[in-house]
Amino acid sequence: MRRRFVRTFALVAALVCAPLVISSSSAAPQHPAAAGNVLEQKVIGKSVRGRPILAWHLDDRPIEGHKGPTVLLIAAMHGNEGAPRQLLETLRKARAIHGADVWLVPTYNPDGLAAHHRRNAHGVDLNRNYPYHWVDLDGNYESGAHPGSEPETRAMMRFLTELQPDYVLSFHQPLHGVDLDNKRPGFSRKVAHTLRLPATTLDCGGVCHGTMTGWYNHNFDGFALTVEYGARPSQRLMRAVAPRQVLRVFGAFGSFGGQG
Ligand SMILES: [Zn+2]
Repeated sequence: MRRRFVRTFALVAALVCAPLVISSSSAAPQHPAAAGNVLEQKVIGKSVRGRPILAWHLDDRPIEGHKGPTVLLIAAMHGNEGAPRQLLETLRKARAIHGADVWLVPTYNPDGLAAHHRRNAHGVDLNRNYPYHWVDLDGNYESGAHPGSEPETRAMMRFLTELQPDYVLSFHQPLHGVDLDNKRPGFSRKVAHTLRLPATTLDCGGVCHGTMTGWYNHNFDGFALTVEYGARPSQRLMRAVAPRQVLRVFGAFGSFGGQG
């Protein structure tokens, strides 16, 4: 039933958003070409200011013939929460990943990152703009003119609908914890334990409105989870420790060359 809804939704989305169809041929020239363990670099959409939102697909070397789960890691949905980008960049530069089919979106909100600002260039909090329990919010949690009003939101909706990852981890700061108030509390607890973060409830002070994880978890079989690091996680944690921990969550491991 849910799958059928998803297909219908995907069809509708494709029709509504036809001019914004995902293209891998328009990759931004300022970024290095796919190399090393990167299979593919894809532009999943553009920001308000026209910056490309890039996704990187890493090669998955099966462990004993078993391909791992499809995992999407997202950082900098809020432009002033950029530290976990280092975690994703370390994975992108890994020599090899074994046991997980990993996609990375290190800079989901490139306009916000450039401005050191939580919201996008329209002043919208992308994590309140998704069409699940959307309400009209103002101020720091400005939710946009209507559900899915922002190009960054629509880009990720298309990408998630196309990829349908088994797991999505969305990295934020600075609340220092992993949310358990969701459809997979057991897995969430495992993530918290493996990443050495407190298991907690990130309930937005009530119902979470218009969040990406809420939208994905409602519409798809896969599971999306918010992971919050602290305000200033160390470079050692982001570049050396956490990349290995994240892979371990999925029964995977990596080779990182000289990066410790
Ligand atoms: Zn955030």
